[in-house]
Order: sequence, then structure tokens, then C-alpha cells
Amino acid sequence: MTRLINTTKEIKNILHETKRPLGFVPTMGALHAGHISLIKNSKSENKTSLVSIYVNPLQFGEGEDLEKYPRDSEKDLKVCQEYNVDYIFAPSEDEMRVTESEYITPPEESTFMLCGTARKNHFKGVATIVNKFFTLTNPDIAYFGEKDLQQLHIIRWLVNEFKIPVKISPCQIIRENSGLACSSRNNYLTKEQKNIAANIYKSLQLAKQNIRSGIFTLSETILESLIFLSQFKEIKIEYFEARDKNNLTKVNENQTRGFYFLIAVKIGNIRLIDNIEV
Ligand code: AMP
Repeated sequence: MTRLINTTKEIKNILHETKRPLGFVPTMGALHAGHISLIKNSKSENKTSLVSIYVNPLQFGEGEDLEKYPRDSEKDLKVCQEYNVDYIFAPSEDEMRVTESEYITPPEESTFMLCGTARKNHFKGVATIVNKFFTLTNPDIAYFGEKDLQQLHIIRWLVNEFKIPVKISPCQIIRENSGLACSSRNNYLTKEQKNIAANIYKSLQLAKQNIRSGIFTLSETILESLIFLSQFKEIKIEYFEARDKNNLTKVNENQTRGFYFLIAVKIGNIRLIDNIEV
């Protein structure tokens, strides 16, 4: 049976005496196949699984979609029940309020790039709240999707920096049949926009194919993908970059393996990200 918990006091008491290992899946709800794959991984590796559902205001900037972010607690509960999640932790903003000393500021070199360029305090907000969740729940393994690759990178930094005794388990990107990476924000897309959005992944596949062919240099490869995307006027590209597999630093022009292509776009007001390993 899935138990819903809303207070930090209760979650601390319950988890204190729960069966270990404890797997933790932090989410912002509106659960989809991507989240479910994280849940399945947790279920297969732990005696207890905990899913948090919390739309973290600290990671949204001004003018972003905090108010409009999809929320569907009834469906989320059903999904968690279906996959035999032991606990859902869905605290209020009051419960998760942080003091000045609890703020975590990740290093500039990992935040002033990629998504951090357009979303200034995003990763500070993510690191602060994930750290608070780790403190409250003390999990053995925490599951994060590779779709949010920069986030995963920053969570790894967090755990190393503060010597948090949790294993970080990366989970592969789950996609819709069209190739579009599953995302809560896909809920905002019209059918037509969704069809167009499928080309985001196509541009990444094209880049992988082009760099592997040996015919194109790295910058030519990126240019080819940008040209491909330019036929879809609705897609506004924020970045299309190649970044090192281990530390997300820039990649040499002659490198053909060991990195990711990462992309962020806007379709209308909807911001979508994706990446592919090369
Ligand atoms: P969110 O609810 O968007 O904050 O995501 C919660 C977790 O699910 C994060 O670790 C995400 O990286 C992960 N996630 C979201 N979408 C996907 C996906 N399509 N495939 C795999 N993991 C995902």
C-alpha cells in the first residue's frame, strides 16, 4: 500500500524505522513514463521506495511557468499505487522553507552554462531543495534521469562536496514513440507542436550520425543539425552544444566520442531539453 505523507516531521519518523535500502525518486509530479522508469529502478534495487512530489519554487525564475506547471495529485497517487511505491512525500512550501544558511550554491563553472545561462538561479534552487530532501529522508540510493544531464552533474557535485552518503543512480532517457523525450511540459504542447518537437531528437541523432561518419568536424556537425532544425520555424534554439561526458566541459574540435550533444529549445512558451551520448 502506498502511504501519502505531507509533513517533514512524519517523514523523518517513518523513515527512521523503515526497511533498508531506501530508494528515493525526487519529482515535481505530473508523473509520466520517464518518472516511472526511475520508480521501477528503485523498486528493483531497494526494500523501500519513496517518491517525492514537490514543485520547487526555488528552481523557477521570474516569468517562468511555476503557476502553470502541471499538477495532478490524483493521477500521481494512482501511478505510485500501481507501481507499489511505499511512500509519497508531498510537502507544502511551508514545510520545505529554507533558511539563508541552507542555500547551496553550486560552482559557477557548472551553472553559468547550458541551461544555467537562461535560468540564472535554477541550479541553486535544485541543489538547495535536493539537499534538504536528502537531509530529511537519508536515502541509500537516489534516482535521477539523464534527460536533465546538467542537473545530474550538479547533484553529483552536491553529494561529493558535502560527503552525503547516498549513491546517485542515473537513469536513461525515456521517449515517446516519436522520439520526443517524455516531460511533464509535453502536456502543454498541442498535437501539432508535439509533431514538430519530435525533430529535437532527430537533430541529435543526425549530429551523432554526422560526427561518427568522420566526414564532418564538430562545428560542421552542429551546424548541420542547426540547419536541419531551421526548417521548423516554431523551434527557437537556446543552445546546441557538445560537452564532455564526465564533467560537461567543452569538447575538442577533433573529438568524435566520449561526449554528449545537448539541446534546449522553445516551442511557443514551452521550454524543452534533450541530449544524446556520442
Ligand atoms: P521532474 O519531475 O521533471 O523534476 O523530473 C524528476 C526526475 O525524473 C528527474 O530526475 C528527471 O531527470 C527525471 N526524468 C524526467 N523526464 C525523464 C525522461 N524522459 N526519462 C528519464 N528520466 C526523466
